[in-house]
Amino acid sequence: MVLLLRYRSLTIHLTPLVPKSHKLHTLHSFRNPKFISIPRISASLNNPTTTSTNRSISDAAKFAKSVLFVPPGVEIEELTDDMVLPGSNIVIGPFAGHSQIKEVEFVKSSARARDCPKDDRPEIAILGRSNVGKSSLINCLVRKKEVALTSKKPGKTQLINHFLVNKSWYIVDLPGYGFAKVSDAAKTDWSAFTKGYFLNRDTLVCVLLLIDASVPPQKIDLDCANWLGRNNVPMTFVFTKCDKMKAAKGKRPDENIKAFQQIIRENFKVHPPWILTSSVSGLGRDELLLHMSQLRNYWDQ
Ligand code: GDP
Repeated sequence: MVLLLRYRSLTIHLTPLVPKSHKLHTLHSFRNPKFISIPRISASLNNPTTTSTNRSISDAAKFAKSVLFVPPGVEIEELTDDMVLPGSNIVIGPFAGHSQIKEVEFVKSSARARDCPKDDRPEIAILGRSNVGKSSLINCLVRKKEVALTSKKPGKTQLINHFLVNKSWYIVDLPGYGFAKVSDAAKTDWSAFTKGYFLNRDTLVCVLLLIDASVPPQKIDLDCANWLGRNNVPMTFVFTKCDKMKAAKGKRPDENIKAFQQIIRENFKVHPPWILTSSVSGLGRDELLLHMSQLRNYWDQ
């Protein structure tokens, strides 16, 4: 309950965008679920004698469709607000299933996309600026310190690290970008080989693009999001460090998130799914895992 109240205390206003094409791009843009009250739609909607009340319900459904991530298998007319994950624009549909992580196994580190494991199992990649909280989030999701530690080992941070989860899917830890201390040559390398991964990895279901909610929008994150969008790589914005509500200076996470979303809106036809998280409080953990399960299960069918 406390957690729910915390989610709802973040106020984000966003406007609808137009969809892009991709297998999972029945994705829609978003608004904080706080502002969405989606009534149950009565059967009379299909009736030619629809009343003005029902017409307004229909408008609400259209509105919901334009602001939410509606997964495959969900009819917009059937949407109710309890189907929207708290602290996100994500609707949970019939493909959501077993989401908890019981077992994680480090498989390999790869320097090039073509060196990645040859496997049909789906994978979800995690990407973000250095210091965004990627290791902390991975740690929070899998609840096994050694996983995040593996990725932090010298020599591994610049590699594509594959972790097999529950023997059925992969978490892929991608090299962070925007290193203050890395040379231009290394930055170029990041572009070349990580972009190769995105463009050639057939089993890639979705990229979780981590955005630090404790700082204002960063150009490098926006460039990355725009690049993924242009290349039709499905992504979910995972806002990290959302617990930092009492920042002594600067803007609060909700203001930073709102600013980020406003910029994304200018560049994207449809706003990707988004979710608020904190590795410190556990905010959004179970919800993110559930979202990942429905993306995977749909891909896997
Ligand atoms: P990485 O470089 O992206 O792997 O980032 P880390 O996971 O190492 O985190 C970078 C810094 O941010 C560390 O000091 C973490 O303690 C801090 N951090 C990470 N996640 C959170 C979070 O959810 N809340 C807060 N308050 N701090 C966080």
